[in-house]
Amino acid sequence: MIAEQLRPHGVTDERVLRAMADVPREEFLPPGLKSHAYEDRALGIECGQTISQPLVVALMTQAAAPQPDEVALEVGAGSGYQGAVLSRLCRRVITIEREPALAERAAATLKRLGYENVEVALGDGSVGWARSAPFPVILVACAAREVPPALIDQLADGGRLVIPVETAADQPQDLRLYTRAAEKVTYRSLFPVLFVPLRTG
Ligand code: SAH
Repeated sequence: MIAEQLRPHGVTDERVLRAMADVPREEFLPPGLKSHAYEDRALGIECGQTISQPLVVALMTQAAAPQPDEVALEVGAGSGYQGAVLSRLCRRVITIEREPALAERAAATLKRLGYENVEVALGDGSVGWARSAPFPVILVACAAREVPPALIDQLADGGRLVIPVETAADQPQDLRLYTRAAEKVTYRSLFPVLFVPLRTG
């Protein structure tokens, strides 16, 4: 996976590559899909949701540049896989999931595998997680029509927010990296992606 899918496609950060090598993707998949864990594609998990392609997980993580002393917020815990990868790179991860069955499963998987610095929270991540804000890293694993204002508000000075944004119907989404320098928030587009929608309310 590292040598064939990640390094040749722009994943250069050695810490990220090590985290990707460390986290066993098969453990986050439903039983019937475990043998596909290292294929270069997204896979279905429960509740009609998906676990992202390893390359997308790695590139999003690299763009968010989590540091060892930082706390990261993820929106869309899904299987818990992306949260586990983040947990290898920063001090603490809070990951929000709106589907109770997925939240429960992700929390159980993370606990079983010993990822003790990841907390799975049940709720609507579009409002962020005010009680632990601001965050130097916010990673959104579902596509938003517009960037939720709460996530911009909860981005720390110097922080990085990685989020897929819908541009037009039937088009891939635009993966964006938002950064904050004091009051000024700017973004650049990274690459086109296909994520399940961020559902609000
Ligand atoms: N990061 C996950 C994949 C996420 S798929 C992994 O590594 O497996 C996107 C997830 O976002 C789905 O589980 C979906 O239920 C969740 N989701 C959608 N809208 C949400 C919202 N408003 N708040 C929290 N989670 C949401």
